[in-house]
Amino acid sequence: MKAVAVTPGKPNSAHLVEMQTPQVSDVAGGRGVLVRVLRVGVDGTDKEINAAEYGQAPPGFDFLVTGHESFGQVEAVGPAVTHVNAGDYVVATVRRPGHSIYDRIGTSDMTTDSTYYERGINLLHGYLAEYYVDDAEFIVKIPRGLKEVGVLLEPLTVVEKGITQAFEIQRRLRVWRPRRAAVMGAGTIGLLATLVLRLRGLEVITFGKTPKPYLNSDLVESLGATYLTSDELPVASSPRRYVGGFDIIFEATGYSPIVFDSMQALAKNGVLVLSSVTGGDRLTEIPSDKINLEFVLGNKVMVGTVNANREYFESGVGDMSQAELEYPGWLARLLTHPVKGLENYQELLDKLTNAKDAIKVYCQVAEQ
Ligand code: BGC
Ligand code: ZN
Repeated sequence: MKAVAVTPGKPNSAHLVEMQTPQVSDVAGGRGVLVRVLRVGVDGTDKEINAAEYGQAPPGFDFLVTGHESFGQVEAVGPAVTHVNAGDYVVATVRRPGHSIYDRIGTSDMTTDSTYYERGINLLHGYLAEYYVDDAEFIVKIPRGLKEVGVLLEPLTVVEKGITQAFEIQRRLRVWRPRRAAVMGAGTIGLLATLVLRLRGLEVITFGKTPKPYLNSDLVESLGATYLTSDELPVASSPRRYVGGFDIIFEATGYSPIVFDSMQALAKNGVLVLSSVTGGDRLTEIPSDKINLEFVLGNKVMVGTVNANREYFESGVGDMSQAELEYPGWLARLLTHPVKGLENYQELLDKLTNAKDAIKVYCQVAEQ
């Protein structure tokens, strides 16, 4: 079969490789699920991998098959698999267990290991291929009615985890009734965070960079949320307009200085969720006494979040279903840039790096 791979350590090395088609029996204990890949989304992580800033090949290979945002259809299952059958639509999780105690209880997203095993990212081949096989444990069923938007599940799980963790943390308060949320960033993750917070019944203000109107601001507004640029309303002083500040803030801009502005926009007892993977070495000056004082006096919390385990893929399926009922067609509007066929990987990467108006760039690997 064909797959798209990079040579780790070599920038812009994307190329096609020919590999053996995997088989159900490749997974021990009859637990294999063989999946025919239909769509694979790409994101900032793929950009970094193609720039050779991140990503290692699996042992014994000099290339890494990329792609971690999958969507496909089950081709065959091993005899011990019961929760999916041939013909079902599925998405696979990304990280595989390492060795810490968190990995051993199904929460490898919380690993304390220093090595990450992530399909399509580090040490494990990804999904930009005609087929993949994996243990049933890592395969999540997607309802048929979501087949047009299922490729958005993996990015959504990053949001699901962040927001679920925030609510878990806030159980410290015995009673927590969040009313107003802010989302920093109006890219794929920011838009999905806006969606989930709206589905939880919160008033949401989403801060972007680009002045409205444009597709992303339209998408925010069609959820009944408010779109503002940080030029119109500087985040650090936004509690002057939104008096009391925000009960929950989800940061997804990729621009780390916004973190310290967001800290100043948090309400008393509020929680700030950080999800941007900022690989650079930016320095920034901050009013540290003010930020620290307000955090202390206001009993505030800040938490980092990365990756997602099976639980968040399952809650993501629930939220996608609710989204289709509440805001029909909204999710599909995020799928702005399809690219047909694995052989057009260069076009895929070009769109990923250059298309200014892109929300989700993805490869249509096979007709569905
Ligand atoms: C992926 C996560 C992954 C993270 C770090 C993100 O792009 O969506 O699953 O844990 O990169 O590698
Ligand atoms: Zn990703």
